[in-house]
Amino acid sequence: MSIFDPVYRQKNLSGQITRSFFYIGQAVKNILWEKSKHEHLTPAQVKVLLFINYTRNDAITVGNVAKYLSCTPATVSGVVDSLEKKGLIHRVRDLDDRRKVHIKLNPAGSRVVGVVESIGYEIEEIVSDFSPHEQEVLEKLLERVSEKLMDKGLIYTGDICTACCHFKKDRHTGELKPHYCENLHIMLSEDDICKECPHYSKN
Ligand code: SF4
Repeated sequence: MSIFDPVYRQKNLSGQITRSFFYIGQAVKNILWEKSKHEHLTPAQVKVLLFINYTRNDAITVGNVAKYLSCTPATVSGVVDSLEKKGLIHRVRDLDDRRKVHIKLNPAGSRVVGVVESIGYEIEEIVSDFSPHEQEVLEKLLERVSEKLMDKGLIYTGDICTACCHFKKDRHTGELKPHYCENLHIMLSEDDICKECPHYSKN
């Protein structure tokens, strides 16, 4: 009983679908390698740059990057060190809490993000040819698969505040940070709520 056994797959649609996931995963890996190589970076370095660019400032910690990459904090520290040596990022100590260190992109890092962020376009092009209904069904089913994988601790997926159950819009209208997070107990600006958060929860 294996998804790599063609006879098994012929009799099991779930096996057939699972093997397709493997192929799609391989395609994503290949695309990532190609783009990374072009910028003289490793795929892990590229993923860290994208995480820094699209995640809320205070959530960019070595621990959260480790969760995102599914690896150890020690490995992430190595990746962050190498990006710092290349002049793509810098570390800043938090003024209020000296134990916290923030990671920020340098202009050179932002340039690289601008080049590599089109990763996935090849797949989006294929999906966008599906009808709106097909896309909706596919999105819902894939979301269910992602949620199960997340429950098993196999992947990390963040999302933005506006789709999160902890988000309270306009708690203090007119202030620089008018929105509130009932989970982290922090106020949020318009910019904050457009960035991904590792604590996002749908329910
Ligand atoms: S937990 Fe939810 S509301 Fe709070 S910051 Fe994260 S995404 Fe936003």
